[in-house]
Formats: sequence, C-alpha cells, structure tokens
Amino acid sequence: MELAKKDIRALSKEALQDFFKAQGHQAYRADQVYQWLWSKGVHDFDKMTNLSKDTRFLLDTHFTINHIAVDQQQRSKDGTFKNAIKLHDNRIVESVLIPAKDRTTACVSSQVGCSLDCKFCATAQLDRMRNLNVDEIFDQVVAIDQQSRTYFDIPLSNIVFMGMGEPLMNYNNVLGAIEKITSPDGLGMASKRITLSTSGIPKLIRKMADDKVKFNLAVSLHSAVQETREKIMPFSKKFPVDELLSSLEYWYEATQKMITLEFIVWKSINDNLDEVRALINFCRRVPTKVNLIEYNPIGDDAFEQASNEAMSMYQKKLTAARITNTIRRSRGKDIDAACGQLANKAHKK
Ligand code: SAH
Repeated sequence: MELAKKDIRALSKEALQDFFKAQGHQAYRADQVYQWLWSKGVHDFDKMTNLSKDTRFLLDTHFTINHIAVDQQQRSKDGTFKNAIKLHDNRIVESVLIPAKDRTTACVSSQVGCSLDCKFCATAQLDRMRNLNVDEIFDQVVAIDQQSRTYFDIPLSNIVFMGMGEPLMNYNNVLGAIEKITSPDGLGMASKRITLSTSGIPKLIRKMADDKVKFNLAVSLHSAVQETREKIMPFSKKFPVDELLSSLEYWYEATQKMITLEFIVWKSINDNLDEVRALINFCRRVPTKVNLIEYNPIGDDAFEQASNEAMSMYQKKLTAARITNTIRRSRGKDIDAACGQLANKAHKK
C-alpha cells in the first residue's frame, strides 16, 4: 500500500532537518531543499540540481509539492492581467498583475470565496469554500513575479492583499506567506511594499500590532457611520465603528504606520455631508490617508457610483481638513479584474 505523501511545504525547516537526520543524511540538506522551495519557488524535486539523484528520489517517495497552476490568463486593454489560479483540489481563485510606469503590483487572494458579506462585492456572493494555505498564497506571488519579468521586464515590486477573501480571517496562513515572501530565506521582498487590506476586524488588527508586523495596513471603511456601515457590510454589526477606530489607534501606537482607508462613494448611501463629517472625525483620531475608490458595478441596482460633484465635495472637505486623499481609478474593468469584481466569472459559464 502506498502511503499518502505529505506536502513538503507544510514542513518547517526544523521538521525537514529532522527528516534528513532520521534518514541518515546531514541536516544541511534541509537548507538546500528549503531554498529551492521558498527562495527559488521550484515545484519539482528534479529541478533541485545540487541534490544527488538518490536524495531527490528519497524526497519524491515521501513528499509531494502541491502547487497552483495558472489556468487561464486574461489581459485588459490597460495592461492589467487577471489569472484564474487552479489549486491542487481544482478550486479556483483569481489574482491580478497591475502594471504602472516603473513598478508592478500583485493583487492576491487569501480565501476561496469570502467569509464576509459586503453587499457591494462580487466575491462576497460566493460562499467561503476554504482558506488558502501558505504555499497557495506564496505561489500566486511567484507566478505574478514571473509574469512581471516576462511582460514588463521588471521584477514584481508591490503586493496587495486585495484579491478574494478576508485576509484576517485566514490570519496564520496570510502572515505565514508574508514571512516566506519577505524573509531573506524566501523571496526577500521588502515588507514596506506589502499592504494587507481588511474589512476591519478589531481584535485581529490588535493582534497584528502585537505581532509587530512590518507591512502596511489598509481598511475598507466605506462609511464611518455605524448605521450606514452595517447596512452595506452586515458583518460589521459585530464590530462597531468605535471599536474599529480604537483598534486602529492601537495599531498606530504600536507600528507608527499610517493607515489607508478605502472608501467608495455611492449615490444616496454616503454622498452627503454627515458622512463626510463622520469620516473627517474618524481621520482626526488616527493618522490616515483616504483612498476614494471608484465603484465597479456588480449588477445590483442598490449601488450606484456617486456623482462627480459628490466626489469633489469629499476631496474638497478632506483636503480642507488636511487629510491626504486620492481618487483611485480602477484597472482591469473590461476583464472583471477590478476591485470587488473577482468572482471566477470566466469559470462559471
Ligand atoms: N476583504 C478585504 C480584502 C478585499 S480588498 C477588504 O475588504 O479589504 C477589495 C477592496 O475592493 C476592498 O476595499 C473592497 O471594499 C473593495 N470593493 C469591493 N467591492 C467593490 C466594488 N464593487 N467596487 C469597488 N471596490 C470594491
């Protein structure tokens, strides 16, 4: 009977060292293998060319390297790429490569579907199937880095956790993947070029601060008025705006890192003065900058992009209150790769 092989990337370096020792090999083999897996991102024992054939065979009899495959790639008119990523259990998530003048950004997924229920987001209409594991998150970054090199001649420079899923509901794996992405043993990318975006789960924002993370934080606020926010993001009944705010104060205290607030302005929902005032009061409590995001319609009539006048009002009032703000135009809309549009559409036909 063949024993079920274990995914080698589920092992820590120490566990891999123990494996080699138990097999009568020297422990430093583990460092070599670890480097192939996490620094070079190889998916095949045969590519580990500084190991003997016997060692590669030994690994192959005990382990697999579960990995993702880019199943489908779409390219937008504006240069954005969207990848449908097939996981080892055939589930699909999406990730996006967004090119700018002299940098490229990967937008990666953290869950299959999403645990939360934001009314305006296409991903939320899918059920949460499962969390992605560390290597599935890591592999998205490696695949997009390769695309960045192939199509734009530069290595990937930035990563945002703004794909499918709520990263904080998959806390350990997301932080585990970021550790592999940033560590000198891994891809060695700079933490300050990574941004985790959350819908705002106060307890876990505090935990990140306690864990002394080095990456940036973005929060999808969309309204600083509790009644409004719980209508559009029902899960936030459990996490009131006040609690969210105090967790952000805690975060800033611990990290000294300014927080980005993502804010969509919708017609008849938050395009009024009270909402702007509430946002300004929120921003006065903790150093933040506001990203006003264009709404990408997902086929629900309840939500409509606010008028240009309303957007200008937001900009004017925020600027007058000395709060840094920008309008973020969406990329990749024509291929459903823009914020809130990731829903495996191409696979649903
Ligand atoms: N769950 C995390 C990560 C997803 S990020 C979070 O909410 O932050 C995806 C970003 O796109 C979030 O800021 C989200 O609020 C925003 N978004 C969702 N649906 C959108 C839509 N239809 N148009 C524009 N932005 C949208």
